[in-house]
Amino acid sequence: MPAIVHAAKGEKFDTHTPLLIVGAGAAGLCASLAAKEAGVDVVVLERDAVPAGSTALSAGLIPAAGTRFQRAKGISDSTEVVVADIQRKAKGEADPAVVDAVVRQAGPLVEWLAERYSLPFGVVDDFNYPGHSAMRMHGLPSRTGRELIDRLRAAAEAKDIVILAQSVADQLIVGPKGEIVGVEVVRRDAGRERIGCDALILACNGYGGNPDLIRRFVPQMASALYFGHPGNRGDAVIWGESLGAMLSHLGAYQGHGSVATPHNILISWAVIMQGGIQINCEGRRFNDETHGYSEQAAEVLRQPDGFVWDVFDARIAAVAKQFEDFREAERAGAILIAGTVSALAAAMRVPIETFSAEWKEVEMLKSAGGCDRFGRQFMKEQSCKPPYHAVKVTGALFHTQGGLAIDSSGRVKRKDGTTFANLFAAGGAAAGVSGSVAAGYLSGNGLLTATVLGRLTGKAAAEQILS
Ligand SMILES: Cc1cc2nc3c(=O)[nH]c(=O)nc-3n(C[C@H](O)[C@H](O)[C@H](O)COP(=O)(O)OP(=O)(O)OC[C@H]3O[C@@H](n4cnc5c(N)ncnc54)[C@H](O)[C@@H]3O)c2cc1C
Repeated sequence: MPAIVHAAKGEKFDTHTPLLIVGAGAAGLCASLAAKEAGVDVVVLERDAVPAGSTALSAGLIPAAGTRFQRAKGISDSTEVVVADIQRKAKGEADPAVVDAVVRQAGPLVEWLAERYSLPFGVVDDFNYPGHSAMRMHGLPSRTGRELIDRLRAAAEAKDIVILAQSVADQLIVGPKGEIVGVEVVRRDAGRERIGCDALILACNGYGGNPDLIRRFVPQMASALYFGHPGNRGDAVIWGESLGAMLSHLGAYQGHGSVATPHNILISWAVIMQGGIQINCEGRRFNDETHGYSEQAAEVLRQPDGFVWDVFDARIAAVAKQFEDFREAERAGAILIAGTVSALAAAMRVPIETFSAEWKEVEMLKSAGGCDRFGRQFMKEQSCKPPYHAVKVTGALFHTQGGLAIDSSGRVKRKDGTTFANLFAAGGAAAGVSGSVAAGYLSGNGLLTATVLGRLTGKAAAEQILS
């Protein structure tokens, strides 16, 4: 059970490292690389046998403006536009200092990983994500977070960074001035070890994997499928509460309204942004699907029986096929294909007349470039042709966006706004840049704050240790 203990006078540790990091996801590994580059030795504690985290479950896409990858494709974008996009989605609730820091450092982060560690990034340029004013999602060839985490782990191992696998940080050991002096770790054989440190970075993500905390902070998703990493049990928030840290936006989360059911495979939102629609089991559309996939999770769960169908065509499927998840869904038989609207309706077991009328109206709006009754704007190039495709999907909780309030270099704040002496948080352990509700999540906010804050905290902690 994660807890805080006070160091005894003359406390002895089994071992000591200058910098200790809890969690070997994208945040922890980026932090470890930055600190090691600055000349500081690091130990990373990881619950699992092999680092994966929610990072491995993601599409691995990082939003960044002004990169050489965007320039090579002639994409015009700027940090100011990204800041505006994030704050528009978050209704201005995101901490401006943190937003500014992560957005300014996102381009350099992607180029750092590409140049220093040979991560072969490219920009997704065949569809745009909801709320993004420019194509700025940078991903690896497989478009998987598994590739991202594996490459980050290989980079850390090449730099002789110590990753202690199957080692769970359990108790934070606090010194007389409230500083962190070490961590008690539970090892794979259930043995306990006390590791002393000069600074600590919490990179152990949020509380999606802790049903009690979800019931407390995000009750509307308490019965939803949790699609993130089960080992993210809210330890940072539990420690933070005991330490008197400022906790922020605990009701915020990233949901997703398009997870194939019963297969539990993510279906890219590209199917919607390219012109697909969602219909419920009564054959009806129910809202403007393009607001964002995060808030759509709760909308989908509100529909009869808690599921809906994504409907699209072969052109759209071809775009979605760049994602390994979509190809896996095809292999699993999750995608229904039919030559006519009526045959598709029969395969989906939805009322043919209702669905046909919805489909006809949408295709007419596309031809005319019109706006529907929900305010969704359609375009001519989004027209769909047979054969038609459908996949049954549900809404899921991906990860929480609330957490420890931090300053722009990732130092954890106390309730009075001052910062702890040597405690940092990055990624899902820290409050994100998505405001207070699910609708505030702009695509990419998760890995943006994981990778960039990881690097920033690694640098800041190293500077402090060396000063
Ligand atoms: C299906 C899915 C798709 C997504 N797609 C995207 C996307 O394309 N773009 C995007 O920006 N975001 C995406 N996200 C969100 C993104 O994955 C997360 O925001 C990001 O990976 C968080 O990184 P992290 O390093 O903070 O956490 P994680 O990657 O979850 O790493 C945290 C690590 O800490 C370890 N840990 C936890 N507690 C302890 C402890 N006490 N002791 C030791 N170790 C511990 C865990 O085992 C885990 O390995 C997606 C999320 C999901 C679930």
